[in-house]
Amino acid sequence: MAAVTLEHWVERIRDPKMECMSRDEMASLQSERLTKVVKRVYENVDFYRKKMKELGVEPGDIRGIEDIDKLPFTTKEDLRENYPFGLLAVPKSEVARVQGTSGTTGKLTLASYTQNDVDLWGECVARCLTMAGLTEEDIIHVCYGYGLFTGGLGLDYGAKALGAMAIPMSAGNTKRQMMCMEDFGATAFACTPSYALYLAESLQEAGVVDRLQLKAGIHGAEPWTVEMRKKIESILHINCFDIYGLCEILGPGVAQDCIHHTGLHIHHDFFYPEVLNPATHAACAQGETGELVFTTLTKEAMPLIRYRTKDLTSITYETCACGRTSPRISKFTGRTDDMKVIRGVNVFPTQVETALLSLGGAVEPHYLMIVDREDNLDVLTVMVEVDESMFSDEIRKLDALRNKIGAVLKQALGVSVRVKLVEPKTIQRSEGKAVRVIDNRNL
Ligand SMILES: [Zn+2]
Repeated sequence: MAAVTLEHWVERIRDPKMECMSRDEMASLQSERLTKVVKRVYENVDFYRKKMKELGVEPGDIRGIEDIDKLPFTTKEDLRENYPFGLLAVPKSEVARVQGTSGTTGKLTLASYTQNDVDLWGECVARCLTMAGLTEEDIIHVCYGYGLFTGGLGLDYGAKALGAMAIPMSAGNTKRQMMCMEDFGATAFACTPSYALYLAESLQEAGVVDRLQLKAGIHGAEPWTVEMRKKIESILHINCFDIYGLCEILGPGVAQDCIHHTGLHIHHDFFYPEVLNPATHAACAQGETGELVFTTLTKEAMPLIRYRTKDLTSITYETCACGRTSPRISKFTGRTDDMKVIRGVNVFPTQVETALLSLGGAVEPHYLMIVDREDNLDVLTVMVEVDESMFSDEIRKLDALRNKIGAVLKQALGVSVRVKLVEPKTIQRSEGKAVRVIDNRNL
């Protein structure tokens, strides 16, 4: 495997023209696109016309990107109420495909795409793959699921737009994944971070890591930590990247980090980001955590205005060390959905992950949070996998480790935690999104 240098990544900026636009030029492009999309949704989508009328806003009032805060928000509930095709801005005959994710209520969150939207998707993922140092020479093993879920097809479209080779493995059957990865000489693979770790450990156990050609991993669809990234990187000797997206906006490819890992670059010529205080909806200052809100500037079939993602992050507009000028969002703290309020304290699964990985050695980053209510009091139990050898040691040692984990978690979360140590592979591994929290409180 050839050594990959920092310069290698910096050189490969896809669409350098876009990246080199001055801030004024970018603002003027965004303004032009925003005024067009606002006019289009006002004319074609009853939902937006009604919402804008309620706020007393006409398309003519939106003269540029600086007027974006006059526009109404769109929420996941709005998508549900207009399911499946109520938010289309084009005739249904122009819809080339739909993608979706399963919602908590059993109905899907559905997104529609014209062929131009599909091409835009491919272009955005290709930019992300380029940021990961990949070119048309690469072989991309896609073990995200293919189907309504956007992961598999999104990466596939990206590989196609880049001119690389895609291996459409889809999820599941780890043994076959490992065989194909080795036989076909995959140079990159894409899946959720939890499955990436599982796959990495399986490859390590099988002793095949040194026979692989892998150099990059593209992982997203669930929040993960820097420690988790480093763990996967160290097992496979590769660089891993955090790809972000959501099917309502596009699918994977809305943003991704570069080799510097100092935030995820947003393709802001297509998706205008705002980070807002979830309660007041006021814009957060640079670096301040709030809810990420997107306006799709060019999407045709189902453009969304100020869509509230429920993802919590902060944003910076400083130019990155890689030379890209696009705004960067920080790695996600979590989703307003995943956050659990335990005895009045906000707790995110990612905090548990960071705390466990900080212990190193005997503790595996496979965990499950279980929230119960006993005598009107919230009780948080964290199941943690520890090295098998721990169980053959004296009970005293096991108790010491349990206490140590409990102390570290209490420090990190601000609430006391019951720790249950279990043997490796006890907690179910996911081939899609990992289940990190079970809440038995029926709130
Ligand atoms: Zn960068």
